[in-house]
Amino acid sequence: MARNRYPGTCYCCGKKVPTGYGHFERYKGGWRIKCVKCASGRVVRDSDKEVKRAIRLREEKYD
Ligand SMILES: [Zn+2]
Repeated sequence: MARNRYPGTCYCCGKKVPTGYGHFERYKGGWRIKCVKCASGRVVRDSDKEVKRAIRLREEKYD
């Protein structure tokens, strides 16, 4: 599953999910976010390479 490039709210626990701290999935024609904690129980940190990659992908998207 890909990490979220944009911040949002976890549909499971309702917490805010910063870029890279969750996964996104297709839902009813849109997207929804599930935080990594709900998905796998892992604790995510800013230093995680998955977080850095999601932030980099988000920035590359600007044009
Ligand atoms: Zn959650």
